[in-house]
Amino acid sequence: MAWDFSTEPEFQAQLDWVADFCRNEVEPLDLVFPGAAYSRNPKARALADPLKQQVRDRGLWALFLDRELGGPGFGQLKLALLNEILGRYRSAPVVFGTAAPDTGNMEMLAAYGTPEQKEQWLYPLMNQEIFSAYSMTEPQGGSDPNLFKTSAVRDGDQWVITGEKWFTSAGARADIIFVMCTNGMFVVPRDTPGVEIMGYPPLHNHIRYNEVRVPAGNLLGPEDGAKVLAQRRLGGGRIHHAMRTVAQVKLAFDMMCERALSRESHGRLIAEHQMVAEAIADSYAEINMLRLLVLWTAWTIDNSSTQAARTQIAACKYTMAKVLREVSYRALHIMGSLGTTNLTPLQAMWAAAPAMAIADGVDEVHKVTVARNVLKGYEPHPGLWPTEYIPAKRDQARKKYASLIESDPELAAWADAAVRATARG
Ligand SMILES: Cc1cc2nc3c(=O)[nH]c(=O)nc-3n(C[C@H](O)[C@H](O)[C@H](O)COP(=O)(O)OP(=O)(O)OC[C@H]3O[C@@H](n4cnc5c(N)ncnc54)[C@H](O)[C@@H]3O)c2cc1C
Repeated sequence: MAWDFSTEPEFQAQLDWVADFCRNEVEPLDLVFPGAAYSRNPKARALADPLKQQVRDRGLWALFLDRELGGPGFGQLKLALLNEILGRYRSAPVVFGTAAPDTGNMEMLAAYGTPEQKEQWLYPLMNQEIFSAYSMTEPQGGSDPNLFKTSAVRDGDQWVITGEKWFTSAGARADIIFVMCTNGMFVVPRDTPGVEIMGYPPLHNHIRYNEVRVPAGNLLGPEDGAKVLAQRRLGGGRIHHAMRTVAQVKLAFDMMCERALSRESHGRLIAEHQMVAEAIADSYAEINMLRLLVLWTAWTIDNSSTQAARTQIAACKYTMAKVLREVSYRALHIMGSLGTTNLTPLQAMWAAAPAMAIADGVDEVHKVTVARNVLKGYEPHPGLWPTEYIPAKRDQARKKYASLIESDPELAAWADAAVRATARG
C-alpha cells in the first residue's frame, strides 16, 4: 500500500527542530531587528550570521538545492514540509538560505550555468555573499514574452543590452540581475554603466537598460533560450511560494481559532455563533485542500520533473492566491477592529493576497494553462449525445443481456418496470 501521509520520525525530528528554532531565534530577531537577516549593515548581519551558521551545522542550508550543489538534497516534498514552517516567519527563508528571488535564480544557474558561471555567481549566491534579482516583466508587455522588447546585440566579445523592465523585485539592492532578453538570459552586475534604476516603485524596481555592456560569458544557457530558462525558474518559484502560503494560511487559521474562543458577543463565545463556525469549517477544509494539492505537486516533481508537473503547479498558483485571500479575510474579520490594524500579521497577509494572484504570472493565464492541458486528455463525443447520456448507454448495455432478456419475459418485464421507476424518481 503506497498511499501514506505520515512523516518519517527522523525527518519529523528535523521539522520539530526547525519549528523551535524559528519560534525561539528567528521570530525574536525579526521583531527587534526587522530585516537584519538580509541587511548589509555589519552589526545587523552579525546578529543573523550565527543563526545561519546553526542552520548550516544542522545540514539545512539551501534546502531547495541538490546535494552536489551544496544543499541537503531533500527534494520538493520535504522542502514543502519545511516551508510550511519557514513561511510563517518573515526572515526564515533568508536564515535558511532559501529566499526568493535568489532561489529561482540559483536554480537557473544550477541547471544552465557553465562551471565558470557557477563559480562566479552560484556559490556566492548560496553563501549570501551576493544577492540577485530577476528582470523579466516589461512596462508595455506585462509578462507576455511575445511582447517583450529588451534585447541584446553582440559586439565583439560583449553583449549590449537595451530595454526597459518593470517590477524587478529587490533590483535596487541586488548585486547581479538576471535580465530576460528576447534573445537570451543575461547576468548583469547592477553597477554596470547604463543600468538605470528609476525612483519608484521602491521595492519592485523599474529599470532601464541603456546600452548595457556585459562580457559574452554573461549569457546564461543557449542563445534564444530565455523562455525555457524562465519557465524553469518560474515553475520552481511558484511551487515554493505555494509552500510558504500554506504556512501563512495556517497562521491566519490559528489566529482565527484562538480569537473565536477568546471573545464573547451577544451572550456566547463568538466561536458558538454559526457564521463564525462556518468560517472556521470552510477555512479548515480549504487549507487542507491547498496543502494536499501542494504536497502532491511536490511529490510529482520529485518523481518526474518540474515540467511534468506544470499543470499541477499552475493549479497551485491560483489556488494559493484564492485560499490566502479567503482565509486571511475571514481571520481578519473575526479579529474585528484589531484585525484592520498592523498590530497583527493579518492585515499585511490579506493585503498580500492580490499580489499573489499577479506575481509569477496572473491567475487567468494559469487557469487557461490548466484548462488547456486538462482538455488534452478529452475528446468531443462522436454523435449528438454525450457519452453519459443514459438512454444510449442503456441501449448499449441491453445488448450484453440480450439473450437473457429474450429467454425470460418475466425478467424482461421486471427490468422495464425498474427502468421506468428510475426515470420517474
Ligand atoms: C509582488 C510582485 C513581485 C514581482 N516580482 C517580479 C520580479 O521580480 N521580476 C519580474 O520580472 N516581474 C515581477 N513581477 C511582475 C509580474 O510578473 C507581473 O506583474 C505579472 O506577470 C503581470 O503583469 P502586469 O503587472 O503587467 O499585469 P498585466 O499583464 O497588465 O495584467 C493585468 C490584468 O489583465 C488581465 N490579464 C492579463 N493577461 C491576461 C490573460 N492572458 N488572460 C486573461 N486576463 C489577462 C488580468 O486580469 C490581469 O490581472 C512581480 C509582481 C508582483 C505583484
